[in-house]
Amino acid sequence: MKYDNHIHTKFSSDSTMEAVDALKRAKELNLALVFTEHIDLGMLKEGDFTFDAKAYFNEYEKYRGKNLSLGVEVGLTKEHIEDNIAFVKSAPFDQIIGSVHILRGVDLYPPDIYSTREKKELYSDYLLQMAHLVYHNPYINILGHIDYIARYATYEDPRLLYDDFAEEIDEVLRALITADTVFELNTRRLSKETAAELLPIYKRYRELGGRYATIGSDAHNVENIGKNYDIAENLLEAAKLTAVTFYEGRMEISK
Ligand SMILES: [Zn+2]
Ligand SMILES: [Zn+2]
Repeated sequence: MKYDNHIHTKFSSDSTMEAVDALKRAKELNLALVFTEHIDLGMLKEGDFTFDAKAYFNEYEKYRGKNLSLGVEVGLTKEHIEDNIAFVKSAPFDQIIGSVHILRGVDLYPPDIYSTREKKELYSDYLLQMAHLVYHNPYINILGHIDYIARYATYEDPRLLYDDFAEEIDEVLRALITADTVFELNTRRLSKETAAELLPIYKRYRELGGRYATIGSDAHNVENIGKNYDIAENLLEAAKLTAVTFYEGRMEISK
């Protein structure tokens, strides 16, 4: 079975998607899904970006099986390592994605940070923090969207290119391999063009010893489920990486 490993339903603060609608769409696409709801303890607004793990399992357990795994996307920060560990232990999550959405207490989504910091310095800091967080959060199965910052950066050229940040990207990739954490290929901003930009990063991961990757659309609505999946498969093939998923915390080949 092929998996879309990164899906947000209504248990995520920024999604209203119903599980039944997501599963119906996945069936049409011949994909299995992993729900990965947001727990982002560093987000400033209280009550946002957390969810009740027990309620999540109670409501979705009936759908869990070969077509659906129940996972979580943990927002990684230096300050919340213990709290994040406590959260992921509170339910039997099938798959745990760790993601960097916040840098030194600043949310990367609003444009403010990009007007006060230079791209070279900010991206370097982002990548080195990411490497650090991978080493210090070994319970995560997957590192989410390395190119998250390029989604929202307001620079004229927001691209994250291997040649521009080789040293820092190598730090992230070495952290993944050392920590036995799988690299995600997030399809949200994938196109033929961005795939060509990202390919050298995934090839380098392979060169340093990486073998596995997950494909995830990061869909927050039905329309985006499985988006750009074919481009992602081509990229992984070009990088000689094997697509995987996680069930009950164990890695399985996705094909
Ligand atoms: Zn994310
Ligand atoms: Zn996400």
